[in-house]
Amino acid sequence: MRVLVLTGAGVSAESGIPTFRGKDGYWRNLDPARLATPEAFEKNPKLVWEWYRERRQRIRNAQPNAAHEAIANLAQHAHEFLLITQNVDDLHARAGLPKEKMVQIHGDIFLTRCSRCDFGFTERKHEHEHEHEQEQEEEEENVVPRCAKRDALMRPGVVWFGEQLPWNEVQRVEGYLGGGVCDLVIVAGTTATFGYIIDWAMRAAAPNGELIEVNPEETPLSQFATRLVREPAAIALPRLVDQLVAQPPEL
Ligand SMILES: [Zn+2]
Repeated sequence: MRVLVLTGAGVSAESGIPTFRGKDGYWRNLDPARLATPEAFEKNPKLVWEWYRERRQRIRNAQPNAAHEAIANLAQHAHEFLLITQNVDDLHARAGLPKEKMVQIHGDIFLTRCSRCDFGFTERKHEHEHEHEQEQEEEEENVVPRCAKRDALMRPGVVWFGEQLPWNEVQRVEGYLGGGVCDLVIVAGTTATFGYIIDWAMRAAAPNGELIEVNPEETPLSQFATRLVREPAAIALPRLVDQLVAQPPEL
């Protein structure tokens, strides 16, 4: 079984990570869709960093949910597997999905990288769990980190609105799509507003392959799906994966 899974904010929302849409996503009455831009960072890097530090902390305190676990389980049972996630948190990884089976197409929130050169480092919780690390982070709370190599500001390693997708990650997706059609494509918890999500899902699905959408709401992808599951991912995916593992789709 060759599988492609695409996930979006809906999957993390069930772990308590607010989405950018709707009132819940607002931070200090600010619209995240306007904070997550190169323009906002240029204008007020301190404010943008404050917001990202809070989001990092929230993610550290969150736990993977049943959807993350079901996807990691499916990956173990598939012959070939790739997850493309729009989520910048580490919940898929913490549910046990190996890095090489996952593309974070919108970046990684725990990555701090230079806005000018290729210098960067990660601040993932499980990579350093020392107490002083915590203190250091608190100490630097009001500081915008700077790159030592170039006199430039460091920024979170995420893709902001209006920015291009990371080239390497796009190449990994293209490599997987070029390696053959998929028997099964699952698109979960994404409103599929980005054209490339729909494009990848449709290109991946074999002519007779399954394209399953898991989302409580209708999306632009719904009309192309072979199966619609109108439920939250944490409820639908464990059941769906159990069925698929017991009885894989036939081409
Ligand atoms: Zn630099």
